[in-house]
Amino acid sequence: MRRIAAHYLINRGEITARPVITLDDEGCITSIDTWQRLDSLPETEFYAGALCAGFVNAHSHVELAYLRGAIERGSGFAGFARQIGAVRGNFSLDERVQALRAADAVMWAQGIDVVADIVNGATSMPMKTKSNIGYISFGEVFGLNSTTEPMRQLQAEWPEIILTPHSTYSLQEQTFRQTVEAGGDDAPLSIHFMESEAEAALYRKEGSLSEWYERMGWQCDFLDYGSPTRRIIESVPATRRVLLVHNCYVRREDIEQLQAHFGERLSWVLCPASNDYISGIRPPIDLLREMGCRICIGTDSLASNESLSMVGEMKYFSDIPLREVVTWATRNGAEALGVQAQVGELAVGRKSGIVLLEGIEADAEGELWLTERTTSRRLTGRGIQN
Ligand SMILES: [Zn+2]
Repeated sequence: MRRIAAHYLINRGEITARPVITLDDEGCITSIDTWQRLDSLPETEFYAGALCAGFVNAHSHVELAYLRGAIERGSGFAGFARQIGAVRGNFSLDERVQALRAADAVMWAQGIDVVADIVNGATSMPMKTKSNIGYISFGEVFGLNSTTEPMRQLQAEWPEIILTPHSTYSLQEQTFRQTVEAGGDDAPLSIHFMESEAEAALYRKEGSLSEWYERMGWQCDFLDYGSPTRRIIESVPATRRVLLVHNCYVRREDIEQLQAHFGERLSWVLCPASNDYISGIRPPIDLLREMGCRICIGTDSLASNESLSMVGEMKYFSDIPLREVVTWATRNGAEALGVQAQVGELAVGRKSGIVLLEGIEADAEGELWLTERTTSRRLTGRGIQN
């Protein structure tokens, strides 16, 4: 048996003062109570800070961990894409595997239970079978000349991989539709969306992406949709769960149309540190909150981030009550991926992680806030099975 007490518990969007959680020898939660006097609770571990459920990192590319620091900050959207192509070949398989193993260990120690992870190849897959973290791997189909064939081959070897289109600007019509269909009816999709204003501009034959394609002599057969939003609505059945990633340039009408199509199955993943690294742009957080979007948080990859810390991302929202941001980082990600029965909140009977947030502040009304000093560390947990 183990008993864990702290100043606060943040769970299901609410704050409880003086929580005490009991776990059995299997790490399963047997009770969640409150304490009055600590000396009446023998053999209790006490932590200064707030407890919460293990995090769901709703967007990462763990296989790119070896690119930490390899791409300059502030390169811009097109510059980033070009540089990634240029440096990708400079590292041995051994270096790449070591880097992704280290990234996995740090994510676990800092409290991440589940990662929605993009893969372009098999490098990260053997690690995932041994990791404590539950990975949901999306095999990304990418490139104007691409077909689904390479990812189908990868999927034959690793059946847990779910095919997903990279974005609305990087796949031709037939490949995009075949990729969506390949996932069947139940699997979620994870699509990079409106990270740059060039994405919507492409559909008007304007902007940097359009000019780059023109220079290279690349044609697009999907511009008649008129916008990234229309393309998704007309290509993805409303029954699919969809994670849209980045969303820096979404407007009210995009959100309205997408919500009308997908309803509860739609989730909005924000990766603010990555946006800051690449372009200095911030996602429209006030608009997303106002429109009742299911906001999730992802770290993106170490190619465009200095760490894979969920708290590092949450610090971009330190003017929003912590209990709301914790919901984005836990339960919302679990719901987006359909794993909310296992992770995303603390409840009796669960074995998922308990995370300690240290260096937080309480105000006079009892609301909790992140500070510059806030860190997270895992106290317990078994994640979910890969
Ligand atoms: Zn990404």
